[in-house]
Amino acid sequence: MKPRQTSSAHVLIFPGPLQGHVNSMLNLAQLLALHNLHVTFLNTQHIHNRLTRFADIESLPARYPTLRFKTIPDGLPEGHSRSGEGSMEPFHSVKVHGKPLLREILVKERVTCLVADGFFGKMANEMTEEVGVPSIHFRTISSSCFWTYFWTPYLFESNELPITGEEDMDRIITTIPGMENRLRCRDLPSFCRPTRAYGEPIIPLDTIVSETHQTLRPRAVIFNTFDDLEDPALSQIRRRFPTVFTVGPLHQHRESRAATATNTMRSSNNSIWEEDTSCMAWLDSQPLRSVIYVSFGSLTTMSRDTLMEFWYGLVNSKTRFLWVVRSDMIAAGEGKDESVPTELVEGTKERGLMVGWVPQVEVLAHKSIGAFMTHCGWNSTIESVVAGVPMICWPYFADQQVNSRLVSEYWKVGLDMKDVCDRNVVENMVNDVMINRKEEFLQSADKLAVLARKSVNEGGSSYTNLDRLVDFIESISQERCLCTGTS
Ligand code: UDP
Repeated sequence: MKPRQTSSAHVLIFPGPLQGHVNSMLNLAQLLALHNLHVTFLNTQHIHNRLTRFADIESLPARYPTLRFKTIPDGLPEGHSRSGEGSMEPFHSVKVHGKPLLREILVKERVTCLVADGFFGKMANEMTEEVGVPSIHFRTISSSCFWTYFWTPYLFESNELPITGEEDMDRIITTIPGMENRLRCRDLPSFCRPTRAYGEPIIPLDTIVSETHQTLRPRAVIFNTFDDLEDPALSQIRRRFPTVFTVGPLHQHRESRAATATNTMRSSNNSIWEEDTSCMAWLDSQPLRSVIYVSFGSLTTMSRDTLMEFWYGLVNSKTRFLWVVRSDMIAAGEGKDESVPTELVEGTKERGLMVGWVPQVEVLAHKSIGAFMTHCGWNSTIESVVAGVPMICWPYFADQQVNSRLVSEYWKVGLDMKDVCDRNVVENMVNDVMINRKEEFLQSADKLAVLARKSVNEGGSSYTNLDRLVDFIESISQERCLCTGTS
């Protein structure tokens, strides 16, 4: 990496107040700070407090002298539930209350470039255009889903949408450029469906589509992906969006750049939940590639019945498992304290471990892990890709339906359980991925992992794109400096 002088650019990074969004954008913040850009990371107070408790972020400015944190209130009363079914509320609340606060920070802090979560697209565009600050959108979802969202209005024009009901779900979608005949109705983002999953946050499709089209307004868009992974969607996006930077997988990119910059850089976990690290010792005592890691991310909620189907399927498969069951994963009023059948208790004692939250990137890299049963949140998907771990997908909402199709049909690194949660299906899929088709999936996953690592090493596409992004931020920041006389 070229050593750089400290820059006059001041980048404000503004993520949505959710684990996956903060995680990837904080990785980007560290990468920009490694290039000596001045970076302010703007969190809600609630998220900042949790990061301070669980992720040791207060040590980051010592390691990255040009990085600092700033907070705004999320507008919700103290004690208001911000987890489980209430997870999206801070997002909506910041959209309503955050505008004047963002405006004030852009002006007072002499920000020369805003990197805003695309989910705040409209608000970010209005504020930056009003005060004359150049902006870039960061999309935390897969570029394939972003492209599908973008194309949704044309699916209505070509009568491929709406979806009329359950019997329609296997109908093939033929007209998404670059992705023709690859997605079925059930693989479209969840917001295209006439019904919602259990506990799924209500976000109207119109809102999602108009936020996506807002990304035509800023100067550039950043994706946490790499070119070899999502070429069909990316080549289409590049025709419509003038400047696209693919700089992922960001967690791996940060890790490899930090290692190059100094041997003393420890990685930070960016977790807003307390990690139970006891699982690492448990994994150490398990045989090579014998454990299936199960996690449905930070937002998924499910009924007790669904949880029991997973549990029976895992125990009946006779495979060892490490399962993250968050305290807020079962919806309120769902009888969390009901007794658990003895065969599940015994089967879990023998071969399983259930914990509240784990250091996921470390877990996926552990030699005892043979597969990942995942909801296919984009961070989890790309973390599994980097680790070369095959997946069993049970998508919950948003981009996860598209991502699980990428896993099963494009990359062929796993199976897609989509829309089914039945103990027999769980058992059979676990056995297929862990035993019957193990070599086939491992080989494909290994190939993808090699490409992922190559992309963030010197000369790789994401490595080069990050350097281009830094130059781009420097140049648009100059415009801001010149027009306000603040340089
Ligand atoms: N994660 C973690 N420990 C866990 C479960 C999840 O650190 O026990 C992290 C995971 O590594 C990922 C993030 O939480 O970076 C979840 O983001 P993702 O996009 O996969 O899903 P979301 O939570 O947004 O649905």
